[in-house]
Amino acid sequence: AQVDRALQACVVDVADYPQEGVMFKDITPLLADHDAFTAVVTALASAGRDEAGDVIIDKVVGMEARGFILAAPVALALGAGFVPVRKAGKLPRETHAVSYALEYGEATLEIHRDAVAPGERVLLVDDVLATGGTIAATRELVESCGGSVHAVAVLMELSFLPGRETNPGLPVTALGTV
Ligand code: 5GP
Repeated sequence: AQVDRALQACVVDVADYPQEGVMFKDITPLLADHDAFTAVVTALASAGRDEAGDVIIDKVVGMEARGFILAAPVALALGAGFVPVRKAGKLPRETHAVSYALEYGEATLEIHRDAVAPGERVLLVDDVLATGGTIAATRELVESCGGSVHAVAVLMELSFLPGRETNPGLPVTALGTV
């Protein structure tokens, strides 16, 4: 109920941003509300636990930039490490890179080669699952390091876009559906 309230009261629809025809979900009011932010971080973190409540992942990966804001506190809540996946050219050491198509435009994402160790289990955290391209690219990056993506947790899923179909076999927890 707290999570539903957070998503309904604290996420603002912005028409035609960043380009015409896109209804952008602005999560900054949610981040500014301590109770709402706490509720969604707790709920996202549960995707990294089994039914007994034990933590079953080694790393939480967040994608630049809104993914960072959610994934870092989720990592702390789980007692796991946080790993940033960044846009091209931002990471200072050796990386793996993947290019992919966005809902609007194209992008390249990178991960430090040693950020996820072989065999580690990863939880991916982002704000919005749209076409699923970002998650698919990030999964490739994690697998390039030798890790595996155990689960994905997002605040909101845009149900009119094929985010889940783009990521077959990957369990997705969405706190809300649009
Ligand atoms: P996808 O790769 O699934 O098409 O797009 C998801 C990525 O785009 C996420 O990293 C997300 O931050 C961003 N994104 C796409 N649409 C929206 C939106 O309406 N609101 C927000 N906050 N982010 C969006």
